[in-house]
Amino acid sequence: MKSYFEEKYLDLKRKGDAEKINWMENIDKHIRESMIDRIISNDKSVLNEVVIPKWVSWDLLLSWAQEKRKKEKPDLCVLCGKRDEIGVYFNNKYICERCFIELKNLG
Ligand SMILES: [Zn+2]
Repeated sequence: MKSYFEEKYLDLKRKGDAEKINWMENIDKHIRESMIDRIISNDKSVLNEVVIPKWVSWDLLLSWAQEKRKKEKPDLCVLCGKRDEIGVYFNNKYICERCFIELKNLG
């Protein structure tokens, strides 16, 4: 499944909006590393510290930040202790897809 960020990016590519595409491709340069966790925790004071074009919505930033964190460090599975990009949160605990399927088969 594509993230909102990816959807938006592909949409801009279709429209050929070079300026916006360029901004999205260089988003790392616009938003500091230290802001990523704050964006994820919905701390909108980030917006006071960085210049963001009007067309960039908070949801777009949030989608990007979540995706970036997930790629960098997916949570450890509470059952097998491995990091896996695909998984689910169950009572706030992360379970990788493989363990989740095993659990479902058991239940
Ligand atoms: Zn697991």
